[in-house]
Amino acid sequence: MNNKFIQIYENLLNEYGNQNWWPIHENTDPFEEITIGAILTQNTSWKNVEKSIQNLIENNLLSFEKLDKVDIEVLKKLIKPSGFYNQKAKTIKETIKTLKNIPRNKIDRETLLSIKGIGRETADCILLYGLNKPFFVVDAYTKRIFSRAGLINQNMKYDEIQKKFIENLPKDIQIYKEYHALIVEHGKRICLKRNPNCKECSISYICIKIF
Ligand code: SF4
Repeated sequence: MNNKFIQIYENLLNEYGNQNWWPIHENTDPFEEITIGAILTQNTSWKNVEKSIQNLIENNLLSFEKLDKVDIEVLKKLIKPSGFYNQKAKTIKETIKTLKNIPRNKIDRETLLSIKGIGRETADCILLYGLNKPFFVVDAYTKRIFSRAGLINQNMKYDEIQKKFIENLPKDIQIYKEYHALIVEHGKRICLKRNPNCKECSISYICIKIF
């Protein structure tokens, strides 16, 4: 194990505290809400996703059963705030069609990846946060922070990066959940794409690429 992965986790947890992902609304099925949220959050900020989720709640549609029946044009309109709504509406419909007849304990990565519009990051979000399975989620923030820190290579593929985390962390679903959320927080606040705020960065002592 490379304990820098653990050191970074501890530093970020110390700095930002527990993030308690994934935020769930009252009276919804967590798995269904997380699956829909994971699709809606592709290529957009969580703030925009919240608006779409709110629209679905106000229209009493935040469930697989209801979304399965709703007209796709109505769905597109309601999820418009999160962008790419034509494609996302199709992916939501397709996902529900695929998953509704599969027992939850039989849903695996291959099934999710067979759905058009669901890539590795979305599939792993659903598996980790929705189904409590040990899949570490890799996103653009992970690639940016950990390549700058010198712990991964910029050209590594998704599965290779994921393997690095899994090899260097205890196999603990709570840590996987919390760590991904903390990475997102650090990427949004400090390790920005342009002008990272290295002076304020709590992991600069590990980082090899201080700006
Ligand atoms: S020191 Fe700078 S580049 Fe390195 S992780 Fe922190 S903010 Fe990012």
